[in-house]
Amino acid sequence: MIEPRIIKELQNLVGKQHVLTSPEDLVAYSYDGTFAERRPDVVVSPNSTEQVSQIMGLAYREEIPVVPRGMASGLAAASVPINGGIVLNLCRMNRILEIDELNFTVTAEAGVVTQDLADAVARKGLFYPPDPSSIKQSTLGGNAACNAGGPRCLKYGVTSDYVRGLTVVLADGRVIKTGGKAIKNVTGYNLTQLFVGSEGTLGVITELILKLIPLPKVARTAKAVFPKLADASQCVNRILTAGITPATIELMDETTIATIEEAMHLNLPLDVEAILIIESDGMDEQRVNQEIEAIADICRATGAREVQVARTEKERNDLWVARRAISPSLARRAPNKLGEDISVPRSAIPDAVAAIKEISRQVRIPIAIFGHAGDGNLHPNILFDRRDPVQVEKMKKAAAEIFRVALQLGGTLSGEHGVGSLKRPFVEQDVGPVFIDVMNQIKKALDPKNILNPGKVIPGPVPGGRDLFAW
Ligand SMILES: Cc1cc2nc3c(=O)[nH]c(=O)nc-3n(C[C@H](O)[C@H](O)[C@H](O)COP(=O)(O)OP(=O)(O)OC[C@H]3O[C@@H](n4cnc5c(N)ncnc54)[C@H](O)[C@@H]3O)c2cc1C
Repeated sequence: MIEPRIIKELQNLVGKQHVLTSPEDLVAYSYDGTFAERRPDVVVSPNSTEQVSQIMGLAYREEIPVVPRGMASGLAAASVPINGGIVLNLCRMNRILEIDELNFTVTAEAGVVTQDLADAVARKGLFYPPDPSSIKQSTLGGNAACNAGGPRCLKYGVTSDYVRGLTVVLADGRVIKTGGKAIKNVTGYNLTQLFVGSEGTLGVITELILKLIPLPKVARTAKAVFPKLADASQCVNRILTAGITPATIELMDETTIATIEEAMHLNLPLDVEAILIIESDGMDEQRVNQEIEAIADICRATGAREVQVARTEKERNDLWVARRAISPSLARRAPNKLGEDISVPRSAIPDAVAAIKEISRQVRIPIAIFGHAGDGNLHPNILFDRRDPVQVEKMKKAAAEIFRVALQLGGTLSGEHGVGSLKRPFVEQDVGPVFIDVMNQIKKALDPKNILNPGKVIPGPVPGGRDLFAW
């Protein structure tokens, strides 16, 4: 509960209409993309770095928890306000400040929706490659705070590869600028990359300087249908070891295919174990065409029953329809899903998929598997109904087993969604006690009163003892 005098002070800082306290407003800010839920005491929507700085100064003085929030599309319950307090909604800070065509950079506020930025720079022939599937529903600040990836990161890398500089408001309200437009910069510690992926626990990102590259002129897409998943996996390795780096290689397993077909009626084959969607892009049409044909040949040679290469932009979009339909289709299959994002060495994908299928059988809960096969980042989605305690227990058991498999295969808990609240209990198994100790020391140095997104990322007791997930 936040005292009325503090609410008044917040209203004076940002304007009354940008401070929400009614129960119905607070409910709307209680969620992210998971099924977790906890109400904040107040939602504050600043419009500038200066306002964020003033809000943080007040929160620091009064020791009030602050949870930075973009579009709340996160899949790790990282922006759910576990201890109430202030939800700091960055979405009003949505200005693209400068597109620098000479230096290939864009400077933008943290609340810009990623697709809006990608569209704005594309109109100038420039390319911002990071493409989380939530590109239309997530913000640059959220992407940086989670170091978001996406299908294209196989060829182009993840968000951190494009963050050149940041403006960050620290827990006590001070403002720090890191990096800049310069390509080379080794002056001091690389604090830019410390804040990237810190999930709102070390500072509030208010502005970003992002690297751009020339916009590829051509893209060609192929769909390959594999009776055997092991063949699909071998195909991925054959493509990459042939020296070809497509922009994307997306995998869907049989449960995912069946779920999409049930929802969308796209005539997908129901008697196969895997479909790969592969896209090549580049500047030179002839080279891209040669590349996609070479990929199609490798697919056929490694056991694909059918390979379709899109000839037109419409055909290309049609091939992507199934991939884009995964999330909505899963939502029709079960009331809730836990979308995990383990990452394993690429060569371990067949073992990972086989082990997850076995978990699904053993625990008796449906798990759809899809993901970015080119970089080993899999999304096993456990489908369940949270109103049924038996199913909830099964979901927890399956998730813990999936994490165990990822680590056993030399992988990691999270390739792109982050730790948030969900994976905290498992982090130490992955990174070990010394890593945790170092994270704790960094956290203490930057946020000595533990007010920034407390109870996230780092394992340990949650202040107030109100953990979201007791696995
Ligand atoms: C359908 C769907 C598909 C998805 N696909 C992908 C995918 O392909 N790849 C991928 O990586 N993720 C994916 N995600 C997950 C999610 O979209 C990403 O994690 C995204 O980066 C979150 O951005 P957001 O603006 O919604 O952040 P939020 O969910 O609001 O916040 C996420 C975290 O970032 C922190 N944060 C937000 N803004 C700031 C800021 N300005 N300063 C400091 N901390 C901040 C929050 O405190 C929280 O810890 C998907 C989610 C959905 C629902």
